[in-house]
Amino acid sequence: MTKNNKKITPIIAVPSILDLIYPPKCGVCGKLCCDSLCKRCYNLFDKESIFMIEKNKKSEFFFNEHLYIFEYEGIIRKIILDYKFNDKAYLFETFVNFLLKNKKFFQIIKSYDTIIPVPISRERKNKRGYNQSALIAKKVADILNLEYNDDCLFKIKNIEEQSKLNKLDRLNNIKGVYKICNFNRLEGKKILLIDDVFTTGSTVNECCKKLIEANPSKIGILTIAKD
Ligand SMILES: [Zn+2]
Repeated sequence: MTKNNKKITPIIAVPSILDLIYPPKCGVCGKLCCDSLCKRCYNLFDKESIFMIEKNKKSEFFFNEHLYIFEYEGIIRKIILDYKFNDKAYLFETFVNFLLKNKKFFQIIKSYDTIIPVPISRERKNKRGYNQSALIAKKVADILNLEYNDDCLFKIKNIEEQSKLNKLDRLNNIKGVYKICNFNRLEGKKILLIDDVFTTGSTVNECCKKLIEANPSKIGILTIAKD
């Protein structure tokens, strides 16, 4: 075991009375198990995962690095679509438990100061019932004992789903829809922005354009998958 390994805090599933009423199940197949991912589905995730860390080299992007677990294709694409559109909010635990088992990701994420989810509009949240990125961001922040921040970046316009648009339309659609406040809370901080899928990057980049106004020392992006 290396020195670094010793610093990792184990993720302990503490049984509660709720476990008796709602026994923990695998988020993917529904089988009873602990940790929200059964052995079979863990092996599936393991086979599909690539755990990429890409340093940004494009001048049009305002973030320093992009971390993602999967390519957005096949079974993973189907699971993420279920997560976003088919009321499978509980999958957030499955994704987080899996991603934090990767030592490299664990250490990098832990080096950030504050975790911010890509916000959704109030209308969208009311319709869907949850912000899929916020569930992941909150859980990551809780486990790693980092600051979770959802009161600095807001989406002020409800726009058409980016996934229905092409690259150029996505760029135009997303312009000016985010607002930043409480600048002083982000100054000098290392910010990790969390979203579910990275496609053209126009959504996260528009958020970063706003975040950078607060003069953070670093901005990273974490997504479950990259298209
Ligand atoms: Zn399973």
